[in-house]
Amino acid sequence: MAQRRQTHPGVPSPPLPAGKFPLVITGAAGGPRKASAMLIRLITGHAFIGSYTVRFHPRKPTHCPGCGTNPQMVDHVIQQCPRYARARATYLAPVVPDLSLSSLRGTKEGGEALIKFLEVIKACFSPNEQAFDPG
Ligand SMILES: [Zn+2]
Repeated sequence: MAQRRQTHPGVPSPPLPAGKFPLVITGAAGGPRKASAMLIRLITGHAFIGSYTVRFHPRKPTHCPGCGTNPQMVDHVIQQCPRYARARATYLAPVVPDLSLSSLRGTKEGGEALIKFLEVIKACFSPNEQAFDPG
């Protein structure tokens, strides 16, 4: 039987159980707010990328604005898109050479690398954000 939290007027609720944050979040702690928010969106599948758009806004474009791959997926942005090759080589490959999503998401170092990568590329930020210029 599922337990339900009961509330009573005037009686404070008991504190929520303390939980551990995933290592990727621990690694990203203290990062820029927008990049941190983007990391959470990536982890939860709510990033502003094609795979999200297909699901929630099927009439809007779903391709990668960097190279045209359709639909744009999380693994494409992190592992494959040629537009982000330089940033990927600078921030992700030194930490996780095979760019494994499970390693990037499952370690503190992966979180630190992802937050730096996302801050630079600004992919998956809100569509109103400034576009990335790979230089
Ligand atoms: Zn692309």
